[in-house]
Amino acid sequence: MSTFLELGLKEPITKALTDLGYEKPTVIQEKAIPQIISSTEDLKAFAQTGTGKTAAFSLPILELLDASNSNVQAIILSPTRELAVQIGNNIKDFCKYLKDVRVTTVYGGSSMEDQIRSLKRGSQIVVGTPGRTVDLINRRALKLGNIQWLVLDEADEMLNMGFKDELDKVLEATPETKQTLLFSATFPREVESIAKNYMTNPVEITSGQKNKGADSVSHEYYSVTERTRYPALKRIADLNPNIYAIIFCRTRRETQEVADNLIKDGYNADSLHGDLSQAQRDSVMGKFRKKTIQILVATDVAARGLDVSELTHVINHKLPDQIENYTHRSGRTGRAGNKGISIVLVNGKEKGKLRPIEKIIQKKFIQTKVPSGKEICQNQLMNLIDKVQAIEVNETQINEFLPSIYEKLKDLDREKLIQKFVSLEFNTMLAYYENAKDLNDLSSRNNSRARSVNENMTRFFINIGRKDSLNPAKLIGLINDQNIGDKIEIGAIDILDTFSFFELDKNFEDKALEAFSSNQPDFDGRSVNIEVTKKERTGGGRRGGSKKPFGKKDGGFGRRRRSSESSSSRGRRRSDRPDRSERNFGGDRRSSGKFGRKRKEN
Ligand code: AMP
Repeated sequence: MSTFLELGLKEPITKALTDLGYEKPTVIQEKAIPQIISSTEDLKAFAQTGTGKTAAFSLPILELLDASNSNVQAIILSPTRELAVQIGNNIKDFCKYLKDVRVTTVYGGSSMEDQIRSLKRGSQIVVGTPGRTVDLINRRALKLGNIQWLVLDEADEMLNMGFKDELDKVLEATPETKQTLLFSATFPREVESIAKNYMTNPVEITSGQKNKGADSVSHEYYSVTERTRYPALKRIADLNPNIYAIIFCRTRRETQEVADNLIKDGYNADSLHGDLSQAQRDSVMGKFRKKTIQILVATDVAARGLDVSELTHVINHKLPDQIENYTHRSGRTGRAGNKGISIVLVNGKEKGKLRPIEKIIQKKFIQTKVPSGKEICQNQLMNLIDKVQAIEVNETQINEFLPSIYEKLKDLDREKLIQKFVSLEFNTMLAYYENAKDLNDLSSRNNSRARSVNENMTRFFINIGRKDSLNPAKLIGLINDQNIGDKIEIGAIDILDTFSFFELDKNFEDKALEAFSSNQPDFDGRSVNIEVTKKERTGGGRRGGSKKPFGKKDGGFGRRRRSSESSSSRGRRRSDRPDRSERNFGGDRRSSGKFGRKRKEN
């Protein structure tokens, strides 16, 4: 194994790497750095995520660029803003001891003027998302006519996101003589077509097997139904008090719903998707990196390529549409020598998607049971005991209180004292999970009819149904027309043949009854009336919408947030489409309408 110096990097660069704790090159760095330094041939490099791709392409560029020339010499394109920012920051760290080297990162959703100003000051390296890069080329603020290097990072994803035209435009603005470096974690057909169209006889290097998942990640799947998907997710989080995870969803809407539910249920969670403003995205990412947020619920695009160290879990709330994306998702964990777990929640239909993924990652999914209440309580208790063992006692501060405490507890022996202290912490949790049902029993008797109940909602009966051509949209419209109140939340809707049920925020129960009775609406010729129903409970278990039972004592991640600080209070918009956040930012938004949002049942 060589050192960075032996790979041909100069001392100011290796010094910065030492500061960053990079002791020796990773496999991809060992292969790519000397290749790029010694040859102007194009390069196609396939590396698993988290293996040091960024340093692999940026260190040789830093080695070779001419710091005395302030023209743009390298353009690095990345599919998402977060990834562009991350790459830009990494490069700034790498060139800490290089004089006169400047890096500018350009991406949508952030001030174009600031970016133009930075470019005018002169930057040898520009990192950008395709859309903003083209904008700046069109405004003649970014000149790529003399570049030496074009780096396409996560090129397959740029194509997936529909950036083909932008890539073509950037290519047109660059000289024939440049060296193109394509780095990608996966190897679908689209990457090959980029290589064919944009590169000349590229040298190919590989770190590990193409598309293969990282060895440090184990893969588990949990069988769920649509009813148990969310409760199972909560149990997984409860089983792991120190969880630090990304939950991946397919669409912005699903992402926001899962995040809203988790926040409402007391989890330290937030969402990241393309309907958020750049400032919101930056703020969420900042908190997640600092571990102020413990669970990030994200779309593929928003979380693409993010390097967050020490993630314990990646959870696939739903599998991605393109199975190659599973490698990207699971590669978020098990980075930089850590172990990670990638979890998939699958219903009966989705199970068929596991086999093709196993072929790609060349690993088997381990079927894992949704934890029982007892297992969760045991884990939480042992976590507490571990913390008690590890806690440092600040004698100077507590000494003065101890005599009176000893006096009060003098009649309790050691066993009794431990029992009481454990009960104080855990009575609520034990009660919460007492009689919790087995979520692994997926029979319809247990899961399809049983209704989880949210105590914040009132369930109404309404005397119209499918035979009256009622559907959820029409029902929402009908409720909306009664002017019950602004921003009232609609919960679960069940349309049956001749009647239906819906849930409303319980604070609006009286107003809803009054509005329907005084307006006397009719629907398709039938006069409509509503009644409050008695709610069904899940078989012996807890209420679906109840709060997380562990109070603020769980985890080690600081305080949990109330929903008033949460994502749901920031006026978000949502979409059911897969997230294409960089591309569609500003467009493709669906207002949630007068009623705020329609909640999914837990
Ligand atoms: P990347 O694949 O570029 O996103 O890098 C994944 C993670 O590995 C980042 O946190 C890097 O800072 C870290 N890393 C990259 N190269 C090295 C190295 N040679 N030694 C230690 N850590 C590294």
